[in-house]
Amino acid sequence: MGRPFMQYLDCPRVYSCANCRAHAADHDDIISKAFQGRHGRAYLFNKVLNVTLGPKEERLLITGLHTVADIYCTCCNAVLGWKYEQAFDESQKYKEGKFIVEKAKVMKVGTTAQCRFADVGWQLPSTDSCSITLPLRLSVRWFDEHPTKDGLQAQIKT
Ligand SMILES: [Zn+2]
Repeated sequence: MGRPFMQYLDCPRVYSCANCRAHAADHDDIISKAFQGRHGRAYLFNKVLNVTLGPKEERLLITGLHTVADIYCTCCNAVLGWKYEQAFDESQKYKEGKFIVEKAKVMKVGTTAQCRFADVGWQLPSTDSCSITLPLRLSVRWFDEHPTKDGLQAQIKT
């Protein structure tokens, strides 16, 4: 099996997998922030990306019985939340096809770092790259190798 095909969002506020930083959802796709996950607060999203679906199962949630499937980060396999496949209660039907993402499993990031890549001529990772950790590290190194005058003197002293 080859490396998973990773997608990247080009929007100001992105939720990334807290484990590997793969983009998971766009802030603008949040339907509600008032959900409860296994690990505390959770968000209901209209759509997510870079996730794999686990097997469907019936689960009794606070709001009743649902058919759900856990969603895993395609990159690192961390469980990020679940997808509502079916709701049995009429009042809960609006959640069908939507995704719960646990707040504890993602981190909110801006795309400032990506703008900085562009500034210094770095390309965003190619689509067959699994993680964006490497370019971020390279970016940091680029700045380390171009220290300010004071920083350079400090390095010479030590
Ligand atoms: Zn991940």
